[in-house]
Amino acid sequence: MKPCLLEYSERQISDIIVPWGQPSFRGRQILEGLFSGKDFDGMSNLPAALKQRLNAEYTGAPVGIERKFESKDGTVKYLFKLADGELIEGVLMSYKYGKTLCISTQISCRMGCAFCASGADGLKRNLTASEMLGQVVSVNRDDGGGAERAVTNVVLMGSGEPLDNYDNVSKFLERISSPDTINISERNISVSTAGIPDKIISFADDGRRFNLTVSLHAPTDKKRSEIMPVNKAFGIDKVIAAARYYFDKTGRRVIFEYSMIDGFNDFEDDAAALASLLRAMPCHVNLIRLNAVAGKSLSPSRPEAVKAFLSILQNAGISSTLRRILGSDIEGACGQLRRRYKAENLKTEEREYEK
Ligand code: SAH
Repeated sequence: MKPCLLEYSERQISDIIVPWGQPSFRGRQILEGLFSGKDFDGMSNLPAALKQRLNAEYTGAPVGIERKFESKDGTVKYLFKLADGELIEGVLMSYKYGKTLCISTQISCRMGCAFCASGADGLKRNLTASEMLGQVVSVNRDDGGGAERAVTNVVLMGSGEPLDNYDNVSKFLERISSPDTINISERNISVSTAGIPDKIISFADDGRRFNLTVSLHAPTDKKRSEIMPVNKAFGIDKVIAAARYYFDKTGRRVIFEYSMIDGFNDFEDDAAALASLLRAMPCHVNLIRLNAVAGKSLSPSRPEAVKAFLSILQNAGISSTLRRILGSDIEGACGQLRRRYKAENLKTEEREYEK
């Protein structure tokens, strides 16, 4: 495959085209064009010969929108198509403060969490930094009508384990938060992990201040290993210690995700164990009722169990909230992304994407 220029800096692009006899300001023009969602042919400010050479040696727009699914609550699930024909998903959520795009970092996933549909097929391949950038660029163009900044926040919470694709994710984060691209601030970007301690430590040592979310889902090794195989390799204490290190290094309060599963991790004892695990740790706990996932027998906790759980945490002084579920009618909620589209499963809100 030809290299994709979307993940190159303005400087790197200039360094390619100056030896071709082009003025260096064209680097800026090309990068601006790419980040507004154009391919080389769509950049009317470039000379034809330059477009031709770029097309011969590089690609520009690595992610196309295949279809869109719109939820009653305003959430939009995008089905993206990559250059090799693979399909991935992203989810756009609207809030008062702006729009958050949830992007995928791998095609499928190898974490194998019991409650999640995204890893059902095992890891297919990592996404490149350009393919992650391309998801944001495509949505900006589609939703913002060409405006570069429809997407104000990005979360790496779609399919895939970001820290299992560390180098490409780092490159993506560096590029998307850089002043020569769309410059999304570190505080508006969140990386969510199933908890790979040494990678969390490297992430802290990188010296940036992105938000870190750790998917915890259980307060003891016994329960966590039952639903998250990755826990068998490290154990909860190492995950918590790495999260603590992240806070110490970056000053960013770590968020712990806790999906509540009926009759499994939603007992008062679990809440008490969670509170003691996180005592003295500057953090926030996001509770979410498990989203039903086809083919999995686990079900969401009863609302009374959630309420009791939340108040135990809050009484213990742990900052915690219950998260609203968005996009479940389009299988766009957490854990529901899975690249499978049978016509009979499509909801009435779904509409074909029109180019
Ligand atoms: N691999 C990363 C990011 C992808 S999952 C991670 O594990 O964090 C994004 C979030 O959705 C994670 O917190 C994940 O545990 C959660 N999730 C997965 N399936 C879910 C489900 N069925 N219901 C609720 N949350 C789920």
